[in-house]
Amino acid sequence: MVPVVQLCGYKSVKVLQIHSVWIGTLKNTFLVSICIYICFALVSDKLYQRKEPVISSVHTKVKGIAEVTEKVTEGGEMKSLRNIFDSADYTFPLQGNSFFVMTNFLKSEGQEQKLCPEFPTSPSAKCKSDRDCIKGWMDPQSKGIQTGKCVQYDKNRKTCEIFAWCPAEEGKEAPRPALLGSAENFTVLIKNNIDFPGHNYTTKNIFPDLKIPCTFHKTQNPQCPIFRLGDIFQEAGENFSEVAIQGGIMGIEIYWDCNLDSWSHRCRPKYSFRRLDDKYTNKSLIPGYNFRYAKYYKENNVEKRTLIKAFGIRFDILVFGTGGKFDIIQLVVYIGSTLSYFGLATVFIDLLINTYSSAFCRSGVYPCCKCCEFCAVNEYYYRKKYELVMEPKSTLKYVSFVDEPHIRMVDQQLLGKSLQVVKGQEVPRPQADIMNLSRLSLSLHDSPPIPGQPEEVQLLRREVTPGSKDSPGWCQCGNCLPSRLPENRRALEELCCRRKPGPCITTSELFRKLVLSRQALQLLLLYQEPLLVLEEEATNRRLRHCAYRCYAIWRFASQDMADFAILPSCCRWRIRKEFPKTEGQYSGFKYPY
Ligand code: GDP
Ligand code: ZN
Ligand code: ZN
Repeated sequence: MVPVVQLCGYKSVKVLQIHSVWIGTLKNTFLVSICIYICFALVSDKLYQRKEPVISSVHTKVKGIAEVTEKVTEGGEMKSLRNIFDSADYTFPLQGNSFFVMTNFLKSEGQEQKLCPEFPTSPSAKCKSDRDCIKGWMDPQSKGIQTGKCVQYDKNRKTCEIFAWCPAEEGKEAPRPALLGSAENFTVLIKNNIDFPGHNYTTKNIFPDLKIPCTFHKTQNPQCPIFRLGDIFQEAGENFSEVAIQGGIMGIEIYWDCNLDSWSHRCRPKYSFRRLDDKYTNKSLIPGYNFRYAKYYKENNVEKRTLIKAFGIRFDILVFGTGGKFDIIQLVVYIGSTLSYFGLATVFIDLLINTYSSAFCRSGVYPCCKCCEFCAVNEYYYRKKYELVMEPKSTLKYVSFVDEPHIRMVDQQLLGKSLQVVKGQEVPRPQADIMNLSRLSLSLHDSPPIPGQPEEVQLLRREVTPGSKDSPGWCQCGNCLPSRLPENRRALEELCCRRKPGPCITTSELFRKLVLSRQALQLLLLYQEPLLVLEEEATNRRLRHCAYRCYAIWRFASQDMADFAILPSCCRWRIRKEFPKTEGQYSGFKYPY
């Protein structure tokens, strides 16, 4: 069950406020720039609007007349034939938003269904004798069904006879220049009705204020819905007479970007053009756009047809765009999504403090004085902000040598190796806090050793001489004793107060006053438990543990490190000697977690 306190309570985070002019200015500059950006994006992209895609219908009408001069052979004589083409002749209704304008054609006139030699384009059409032709064979490339005979096509070529619309279409190239080159001057009227059903808004591209007839011009008349075909090609950067020969596909894009808000209503189309087929394909890859159609008629009761291969331009009309209208939900969502940007100021300033603290300076990237000053300030903030928490692993221990300024962190299994010889990792010694110092002054006023116990002082004097013979090999101060722990834990206590030979820390005045002073330790115990009755045996145990703690706090300063601090053997035994256990083994260091 969740406690009532938790249900009725509220957890908040504690913050660290840094009073600094330049950090403050930096933060404000950041916030103001972010604010400006958010407002700018909101207004320029109209992010407060709900947008909806357009749905539309298109209707087109092509107008224009072209005169075509065809060359025909009549009775072995070449003749020019004038022909007029109007919209019924050159436009074809297509499905979807498309229309087609024929610009070039090939005519095969007077075709009727009978037998004739095939046109010798495909390899299967050519033959030497009847054996090369297969009766009933239908080649997808050919125009009819083979009869199995090989007949003369012209003076020196023979092809298979087919049953087809004869005479078979000659595989001629499209005429150059295009026969309906003047289609460039045709015009097309595009009627486009659009709808935004979600906003319940309908409109069209022909506005009442338009003067019709007109011709579209990108700058002078951008709203006119009548387009000259030549202009469309020019806008798209294409050459009409070139495309007219083989045909092509042209896209007319109508873009509607509608603002349906009553205070800034605007809904006008924008026209643009682009060629949609591949203009770079070479001949072998079937360039252009063409198809075949036929006109049928009867002559002397025989059905005949005129086959026309029409080359031309297919125009595809692509309508797209959105309509937007103010929507409070969109606005709230947008504002919500931008809130996280304000956190960027914190991220950036934290990054600055972290990167440009002394570690960066010490790395020597910027050894200039100005920078170091700046770094020192950052270092100060950094120290205030950060607290390093090590995982309380059973392998973690801290060691402090009196002849080294730093503390060593050992995070490994000892496996029988003395703790004294393990290198570990250097960590800076935390600065002593005022609490310890006040206790220090407390102990310093401690009365001098009671004159009634001179032998103890004697003892101490004798012990201070470093390099005593019975100290173990790893000892550098001469006061350490071999561990009495079981074999497997012994290595943990094989630690001296020094790295290199020299005087022992236990001989220092401070050790006596801070760690060994019975009066100070008693005071500390009473401080925690004011009514504590201090009697001999149990007291010794408490005083001893308190002394261990005092030493650890003195040498390691931080509470966290003190929990994992290992006492040097000399200190351990000096404390044990002062506050001994009358019976049984000392249990030694235990992991606190
Ligand atoms: P005991 O009094 O018979 O249990 O034996 P000890 O005199 O060895 O004291 C054991 C207590 O002191 C345990 O709580 C240990 O965690 C603590 N202790 C002993 N040695 C160390 C040490 O090197 N460092 C720290 N931080 N604590 C120690
Ligand atoms: Zn030693
Ligand atoms: Zn020592």
